[in-house]
Amino acid sequence: MTASAEELKPEDEEQRIAVRCKVCGSWLTDPASVALRIGPKCSRHGGVH
Ligand SMILES: [Zn+2]
Repeated sequence: MTASAEELKPEDEEQRIAVRCKVCGSWLTDPASVALRIGPKCSRHGGVH
């Protein structure tokens, strides 16, 4: 494993940050979802299931 390239291997940063969805509690892996602290599915529902 080459941990020198952080920008070239997105899979290598799977445990770089661990954020869970504030709605359902699912682990978020997408940068966009992590930034919002909410999953894409919950975000579309506006946080209401
Ligand atoms: Zn969610």
